[in-house]
Amino acid sequence: MSLESSTISKIEQMKTGEFSCEKNVRDFLANIEKNNKNYNIFLEIFDSALEKAKKLDEKRQNKENLGKLFGTVIALKSNISYPDANISCASKTLEGYFGTFKADVVKKLEDEDAIIIGIVNNDEFACGSSGENSAFGKTLNPVSPSRVPGGSSSGSAAAVAANMCDIALGSDTGGSIRNPASHCGVIGVKPSYGRVSRYGLVDLSMSLDQIGPFSKDIEGAQIVMEVLAGNSENDSTTSNREVSSYTQATSRSLKIGVISNFDQFISEEEIKSKYQALQDKAKQEGHEVVPLTMKGVDLGVQAYYPIVYTEFFSGTRKFDGIKYGKNIDNTAGEEVLRRILGGKIISKSEYEGAYYKKALRVKEIIAEEFEKAFEQVDVILAPTTPVLPHKFSEELTPQQIYGYDVFTIPANLAGICGGVVPCEKVSREGEKVPVGFQIFAGKFQEETMFSGMRVLEDLSK
Ligand code: GLN
Repeated sequence: MSLESSTISKIEQMKTGEFSCEKNVRDFLANIEKNNKNYNIFLEIFDSALEKAKKLDEKRQNKENLGKLFGTVIALKSNISYPDANISCASKTLEGYFGTFKADVVKKLEDEDAIIIGIVNNDEFACGSSGENSAFGKTLNPVSPSRVPGGSSSGSAAAVAANMCDIALGSDTGGSIRNPASHCGVIGVKPSYGRVSRYGLVDLSMSLDQIGPFSKDIEGAQIVMEVLAGNSENDSTTSNREVSSYTQATSRSLKIGVISNFDQFISEEEIKSKYQALQDKAKQEGHEVVPLTMKGVDLGVQAYYPIVYTEFFSGTRKFDGIKYGKNIDNTAGEEVLRRILGGKIISKSEYEGAYYKKALRVKEIIAEEFEKAFEQVDVILAPTTPVLPHKFSEELTPQQIYGYDVFTIPANLAGICGGVVPCEKVSREGEKVPVGFQIFAGKFQEETMFSGMRVLEDLSK
């Protein structure tokens, strides 16, 4: 059994005892030990992982019932609560803050016999698109080390790409799962808003955030999503809708929409040509490709930031140095402070209605446009980012960094689901830079999204 085996076959082998949970953890620990110093992915590794693995192996020997994720090794972004772990959000503000409870997602994973191995790096408070904003140093991209891994869930994507865990969890407010999944060449899924409990997640923007998985293969994301999805009494925004069997979703003939007004934003030639090639191949393979013109989607970035600034500003007022950690206004990095200041200005009563309310109106329009689109098509195919990940040596302006999310933000504003599949590797200066494309499906249509991701995987071959 190698570190790269498919998630589901590995779980099966751990269930039969062909491969032990202990060996699974030991292999990952050895790899972390060897490579973490090069990539700066893990902030904390749990000793309890090995003990847990041994207990699971005993459970199998005792012929007890084994969970769906038996022995699966999982890393958590540093904004997801885990008891006694430093839930720092990669910020000096929360450097001394230790989790007091298990996030709902963690409980669900552990109930199915998964093993949490540790906490990984990210952009501070999930603000960023490159992995460069962590107070504990940037994360490197294991596939293309001179370039950024993407963000804000940089460590989660990199941990999977570097074979340091089977699965990692991240959070996606405007693209933070999908952007690094694309840049690191792994699968990443942002669930529909309300599909997965946010209880235990430190908010960036509570009306947009969702927790979701990174995985090496689509099957891994399917089985993990089946475990994570569902209603929680701890999070009133979660839906009661039944969770369908995501693992049953397979490749099938689909009506695939493409958003015509996205095209103007693609600035990398190779992304443009791959996007076209995927559409051509889809037609050849018998799928219907439907061009869509969607009002408002080109204003996604402009609408997103006033919402995030305002909600983030209000959410951070609790970090006043009394209850949790240190005072955020004195300890956070540049991007976090920019948002706090921006949020404060937007929230001032004299501006009421000037930005936030207008942004919410655009959010509504985008949601309606997606609803209409999904009356015509099953899924939508889109690029993940308009450009390749930049090199660490390049300095981008905040506007350029914000521009990375032009294709990911609309899904958050509409509350729909989106998943990234690695489709291409572009050669640049001796490195192969991964490029992933997204599949969107309607709200709570994760099963259809997974079918779309299967189709995309076939098309990209
Ligand atoms: N890059 C976006 C931002 O900085 C998205 C962040 C995220 O999804 N957490 O706000």
